Amino acid sequence: MSWRSHGRDNADMVRTLRKNKLVKSASVARAMEDVDRGFFVVASDQGTAAYRDQPQSIGSRATISAPHMHAYCLELLTDHCKPGARVLDVGSGSGYLTAVLAAMVAGEGGRDIGVEHIDKLVAWSLSNLKKDPKAAALVREGALEIHAADGRLGWPAEAPYDAIHVGAAAPEVPVDLTRQLKPGGRLVIPVGEEGQSQSLVVIDKREDGTLDRRRVMGVV
Ligand code: SAH
Repeated sequence: MSWRSHGRDNADMVRTLRKNKLVKSASVARAMEDVDRGFFVVASDQGTAAYRDQPQSIGSRATISAPHMHAYCLELLTDHCKPGARVLDVGSGSGYLTAVLAAMVAGEGGRDIGVEHIDKLVAWSLSNLKKDPKAAALVREGALEIHAADGRLGWPAEAPYDAIHVGAAAPEVPVDLTRQLKPGGRLVIPVGEEGQSQSLVVIDKREDGTLDRRRVMGVV
């Protein structure tokens, strides 16, 4: 990506993402304004570093993805993340994207479930959610949960989902995830081996249950 959407603070970051046409829809802009990325980075990145358009390490060999990458995935999912929708975020890491997705679907019974396999990150993400006023309210209202589990198995208890976002690359698309997608639902997942070139793949489940798969871009 040849441009960067750095911000001085959260509102400025969203403004820059909009100017650069990475955030296009009102619902993504509103949800990214509601949840402050500054609560989801490690202490040494707090302050303006939190709003730089780059991935940041969050420990346990994980990163919080760059804002432009979050914006891109959210735009792919925006039509499937209306109030009342049910969403699964696999590899929830910092909890940031999970909270933004929850802000998009909240109301009318909408719910977002995050699944993360590193216990330490689950505990840290839950403490991040408490610091962000919007995310804390979503947790209290029952619109947002994060669980420790192997995300390749999805989270069958709340299936089927209107949207599934996967933050962790997989060599192949886990069959449990496509099974847990609603007809009309959409899955966004980076596919490829670790250390090799990966593709961001969009899978739509048609009303008859068959799958439509396309590669939307290369990712690192
Ligand atoms: N969306 C997150 C991305 C974190 S990086 C964010 O922006 O903060 C990818 C995450 O996927 C890491 O936290 C990693 O621990 C997690 N992960 C990797 N494999 C997983 C698996 N099988 N099940 C659940 N989480 C997994």
